[in-house]
Amino acid sequence: MTIDLHMHSSASDGDLTPDEVVTLCAREKVDLMALTDHDTVAGLSEAREKAHALGLRFINGIEVSSAWGRLGIHIVGLGFDPEHPAMVALCDRQVRRRHERSERMRTLFAEAGLLPVFEHALTLATNPLIFSRAHVAKALVALEVVDSMDAAFNRYVGDGKPLFVEQAWPTLDESVNVIHEAGGLAVLAHPGRYRYHSPLMRDLLMEHFAEIGGDAIEVTSGSQSTRDTAYFAGVAKRFDWWASTGSDFHREEGARPLPGAQPPLPDGLKPIWTVL
Ligand code: AMP
Ligand code: MN
Ligand code: MN
Ligand code: MN
Repeated sequence: MTIDLHMHSSASDGDLTPDEVVTLCAREKVDLMALTDHDTVAGLSEAREKAHALGLRFINGIEVSSAWGRLGIHIVGLGFDPEHPAMVALCDRQVRRRHERSERMRTLFAEAGLLPVFEHALTLATNPLIFSRAHVAKALVALEVVDSMDAAFNRYVGDGKPLFVEQAWPTLDESVNVIHEAGGLAVLAHPGRYRYHSPLMRDLLMEHFAEIGGDAIEVTSGSQSTRDTAYFAGVAKRFDWWASTGSDFHREEGARPLPGAQPPLPDGLKPIWTVL
C-alpha cells in the first residue's frame, strides 16, 4: 500500500490545484492520501471529492505553522473536522498573522529596493489568504535575483536571512489543542528539518511535544534526510507515538519526491493510518 499523509496544493504554496494533486496521486498509485496545506483547510473538499471519484482513501489534513520559543515548528493535523469552530478560528488567526507579516515584508522589501519582487510575489499567491515565503522565493527567481528557490531561502528569506520577517506563530500547545478539539491527531512534521542548536535541544522538543499530548511523528518525510529515519523511529518507540509518513510534495520540479515516493516506514512502528 502506498501512503502519503503530507502534501500541498495551490490552496497554500503548492503548484498544483487540489484536484491536480489527487490526479497525480492516482497516477503515482497512492492508495491513501492526506492534503496538508499550510494553515488552511480551503483545498480539502475539492481534493476529497476528486479522491473519492478516483477511488483513493482521503484524510483531512492541515500543516499548522507553530513556534517553540523562537524556533518555527510545523504540526500536521490529521483526521479532524475542518468545520469545527476551533479549527476555523485557528485558520482565521493564521490568515491574520500572515497578512500582518506581509505588510511588514512589504516595508522591508521597499526599503531594500525590491518592492517589484514583493508585488510579483503577491500575484503568485494562488490563495491570497495564504501568502508564503515560498511565493517570495519564486518571485526572486522569476525576477532573476537568484536562480533557484533554494538560493532564495539560503540568501534572502530563510530564517535569520536579510529579508526574513519574524512571525509570532501559535505555540505547539495551542496547535495541538485545536487539532484535538477538532477531533484529529497531532503529528510533529519533518522532525529532522528544524534548526536545533544541539542534540539536547532536539530531545527537549520531543519531550515537550510528548508533555503537551502530541500523538505522532513523521518518521519518514520527503523533506528530511533518510539518515534521520532510524533516529526518529527510535523516538516514536520511546514515546509510544503513532508513526506517520509523507512526501511534503509541493511541485513536480525540485529535489523532493513525488507523492508517495518518500521512504517507507521502518518495521516495528505503529502506523497512524490504522487509527485514522
Ligand atoms: P512560510 O510558511 O510562509 O514562512 O514559508 C515557509 C515555506 O517555504 C515552507 O512551507 C516550505 O514549503 C517552503 N520552503 C522552505 N525552504 C524552502 C526551499 N529551500 N525551497 C523551496 N521551498 C522552501
Ligand atoms: Mn510549503
Ligand atoms: Mn513544513
Ligand atoms: Mn509541508
